[in-house]
Amino acid sequence: MCLGAGIVLAGAMARASAAGDISERAKQLHFSSIVIDTHDDTTQRFLDDGFDLGARNATGSIDIPRMKEGGLGAIFFSIWIPSRITGPEAVKRALDQIDAVREQSRKYAKDLMLVTTAEGVREAHKQGKIAVLIGVEGGHMIASDLAVLRIYAALGARYMTLTHSGNCEWADSSTAKPEHNGLTEFGKDVVREMNRLGMIVDISHVSDKTFADVLEVSKAPVFASHSDCRAICDAPRNMTDDMIKRLAAKGGVIQINYHVGFLSQEFRNAEKAHPEWEKAIALEIQRRCGTREGCQLIEGDRITREYVLRGDLPRVEWTKIIEHIDHAVKVAGIDHVGLGSDFDGANMPFGMEDASKLPQITNALLEKGYSEDDVRKILGENTLRLMAEVERVSRELNAVK
Ligand SMILES: [Zn+2]
Repeated sequence: MCLGAGIVLAGAMARASAAGDISERAKQLHFSSIVIDTHDDTTQRFLDDGFDLGARNATGSIDIPRMKEGGLGAIFFSIWIPSRITGPEAVKRALDQIDAVREQSRKYAKDLMLVTTAEGVREAHKQGKIAVLIGVEGGHMIASDLAVLRIYAALGARYMTLTHSGNCEWADSSTAKPEHNGLTEFGKDVVREMNRLGMIVDISHVSDKTFADVLEVSKAPVFASHSDCRAICDAPRNMTDDMIKRLAAKGGVIQINYHVGFLSQEFRNAEKAHPEWEKAIALEIQRRCGTREGCQLIEGDRITREYVLRGDLPRVEWTKIIEHIDHAVKVAGIDHVGLGSDFDGANMPFGMEDASKLPQITNALLEKGYSEDDVRKILGENTLRLMAEVERVSRELNAVK
């Protein structure tokens, strides 16, 4: 999730596809591919009263009907609490959320299957189910204790983002004043233990120095579960071309984030020019939701859109996602780019309001001249390859010598 608040770039492609004009070839390809989204914040909603994952909801971006409509084959539900919450309370709240994801998978077992491996994702797909996976967004939730990390892994967590927007006790974030010069010695132990446990090390949100330290320490490839290209939008938590290249050289994947404040420089500039709006939006969120975090994330997106509709903030079209995918492919190569929406935790561009809109991405990439194999890689195969490789390294590290 992003905690933040778009310019008209409506080309012919945006207009055609937003109207649901998806070619037969794109439909065929999309619905026969395994489409994976590596970052969704819907988990917060599971803990709010009145949200039903099984019903089509008028708000937010994710529920079973819309995932099916959009051909989403696998989803990583994010376990997230604010960086300021640490220690036992952070662990308790993380466990509540992990339990909520597991319970949703059980409740909707007809449609969902909780899995932990690349093979598990393929098996769910074969059975016509959506694979559910768990990612922990923020190293503060392990309370500086490797035992807690191991428990999260045992409960099914398959990645951990090392920090959120604040530093954790052992790693620096890209959006806080550096305290640790990247990873501390304990932070390096966390990465090594994640390698052994078969958890993907997620470098979204971390500082450039933390990223460099991770690349040095990790024995397995790593990913950015939801990050964009800094060359297009200069947000500190986006990746520079050099970082994208180094991530790719290690076998990693950059999963493109749909949040308008990371996609669009124009949007970012407008937000920066009016810090008072951010404050006003935060106040309005609090008025509508109180302390209910699921509600806060959904309303943040809605209120930001109200600012766009009355002309205060620029409008960002979904085609900006394609621009970032295409740039990342040019920099990293076709094997190192995927999708990490940030749905239900960020502000979505026009035309990508929810998971039902995902086939547009396939349509647009085909129109751009990408081959069917290449599109499949971006939709999910790159992530499956990365998962399998992380699992292989884990087996190797666990081998009895
Ligand atoms: Zn995030």
